[in-house]
Amino acid sequence: MSDYQFIDHNYDVVVVGAGGAGLRATLGMAEQGLRTACVTKVFPTRSHTVAAQGGIAASLGNMGPDSWQWHMYDTVKGSDWLGDSDAMEYLAREAPKAVYELEHYGVPFSRTEEGKIYQRPFGGHTTEYGEGPPVQRTCAAADRTGHAILHTLYGQSLKNNAEFFIEYFAIDLIMSEDGVCQGLLAWKLDDGTIHRFNAKMVVLATGGYGRAYFSATSAHTCTGDGGGMVARQNLPLQDMEFVQFHPTGIYGAGCLITEGARGEGGYLTNSEGERFMERYAPTYKDLASRDVVSRCMTIEIREGRGVGADGDHIHLHLDHLPKEALQLRLPGISESARIFAGVDVTKEPIPVLPTVHYNMGGVPTNYWGEVLNPTADDHDAIQPGLMAVGEAGCASVHGANRLGSNSLIDLVVFGRAAAIRAGKIIDPESPNAPLNQKSVDQAMARFDKLRHASGSTDTAELRLTMQKTMQADAAVFRTSKTLKEGAEKMEKVAAGMEDIRVHDRSLIWNTDLMETLELANLMPNALTTVVSAEARQESRGAHAHEDFPDRDDAKWRVHTLARMDGETKVKLSYRSVHTEPLTSESEGGIDQKKIAPKARVY
Ligand SMILES: Cc1cc2nc3c(=O)[nH]c(=O)nc-3n(C[C@H](O)[C@H](O)[C@H](O)COP(=O)(O)OP(=O)(O)OC[C@H]3O[C@@H](n4cnc5c(N)ncnc54)[C@H](O)[C@@H]3O)c2cc1C
Repeated sequence: MSDYQFIDHNYDVVVVGAGGAGLRATLGMAEQGLRTACVTKVFPTRSHTVAAQGGIAASLGNMGPDSWQWHMYDTVKGSDWLGDSDAMEYLAREAPKAVYELEHYGVPFSRTEEGKIYQRPFGGHTTEYGEGPPVQRTCAAADRTGHAILHTLYGQSLKNNAEFFIEYFAIDLIMSEDGVCQGLLAWKLDDGTIHRFNAKMVVLATGGYGRAYFSATSAHTCTGDGGGMVARQNLPLQDMEFVQFHPTGIYGAGCLITEGARGEGGYLTNSEGERFMERYAPTYKDLASRDVVSRCMTIEIREGRGVGADGDHIHLHLDHLPKEALQLRLPGISESARIFAGVDVTKEPIPVLPTVHYNMGGVPTNYWGEVLNPTADDHDAIQPGLMAVGEAGCASVHGANRLGSNSLIDLVVFGRAAAIRAGKIIDPESPNAPLNQKSVDQAMARFDKLRHASGSTDTAELRLTMQKTMQADAAVFRTSKTLKEGAEKMEKVAAGMEDIRVHDRSLIWNTDLMETLELANLMPNALTTVVSAEARQESRGAHAHEDFPDRDDAKWRVHTLARMDGETKVKLSYRSVHTEPLTSESEGGIDQKKIAPKARVY
């Protein structure tokens, strides 16, 4: 351990991650004069948020009547009544403000004829509490909305003197003896130095863990590093069983065709040329929510009506839409379809398949982004010194299923909320307590062990086994049998970390070691996903359990908490769902009766 060179840093706040959530939090902290560092393993504008195409939901009402109450209702229903009502109200209410802020920061939104922000329809977004026609609520910058948001927020953060530590890999959190998060350890990838960050608040904005699966729309960097760091501190992960499959990943390549394509009028067909969604979701058809459409596609394929030589996928049609509309509103996906499926969207359908897209679960937080460490007596107990925002967190606004365009709004609303909260609870005048050396030593020992790992399994090999296990056993449809097998197999796969081999021992641009650290982070994410899924004996949102096809509110309207118990075991407990909104109807809030659980039909 003697060849490590340490460099120390002292800040009010350290944000890990420079995607939409991390940058919005960083900007908000820096604007208030907090000394803020943002640590990121990739260049900020290469974070996965850059790939978000479709847009960001907010009830601006630019294209027709809309209200935050309708947006909240749709989010509640989309979540299949598992989301926390206070957080969902906060999201829907603050959304317009957060979007106008983005506009004023400089995001180049597409425009209507009158110069207002353009909004498109998206799945599950409706009017009149699900009784009216689809609403145009999703604000877009053509089909490059995430790209536009990231570039704008990065520029604004620099302007406000946030300090960026780019291509630094966060290894582990540093915790005090009495359990307060004090900072983190990071590895500078280009020169091998180790950086000890001491901060009053650490904000995890590390994104999702799509790469626990074989076929995912997310970037190779989406490895759940925040979840891994949290799990190693014996803190829980919440609702991990809810993994969203996006209906339209390009068959084979896995990359995404935005739901905006159906929003603009695209539709799905089976081998008989039938628009089958009309049969399953008579009202909203191809714009039913994602879990519903993914399941219907899977049923069509299983019942022998898939397209292609092997009958194993579905067609998405855009060929009936005017060429000019495609060029104006969907230029990026026309290009993706050409490159990855060899298809000219003006003439032929795109071959598509449900593909892992989003993780509803993550680090549990309240609607200020403060991480929770629930106890039996206090389900909302706060973990001091730690926040989590964006896909890494679970506030929980998406519950069992996220609506399209509700993630980008989640990033900016809760990134902003975390900054507001931090401004209230952090005293910039007070000195930071010295880092707990024992915690630093533990983190370094783990790093050093992986660096010198000399077993017999290559990282890529073990990663592939994990990804195939998750793809096969924790899929769109699940059964008690597949989940039980999946949990047993994943336990063995995770034990395989003991036999890992890292070939490169250097500290400079050592991608072998970085991928091994990422795999070590993916493992607890994958394990808690399949174990939480096995335990949940009902079907809700993205968790479609064939042996328990109905939702069971009496028993299962609860959040799952999963804590690691050693390297391969998971301990489960449960936490109550917040069913009370923030404001009552007499204060201008939503009518409670409107959001009471009922059957979820589209
Ligand atoms: C292809 C695609 C299209 C999408 N389209 C939409 C859409 O149109 N609308 C919508 O609402 N949602 C969409 N989503 C979902 C949404 O884009 C994501 O949920 C969201 O961008 C996640 O943002 P984030 O800020 O949480 O994390 P990311 O953008 O994933 O950023 C994670 C950050 O964490 C950093 N990081 C991670 N681990 C470490 C570590 N160990 N050390 C240092 N840094 C680390 C990374 O460098 C990166 O900066 C889409 C998702 C995908 C995959």
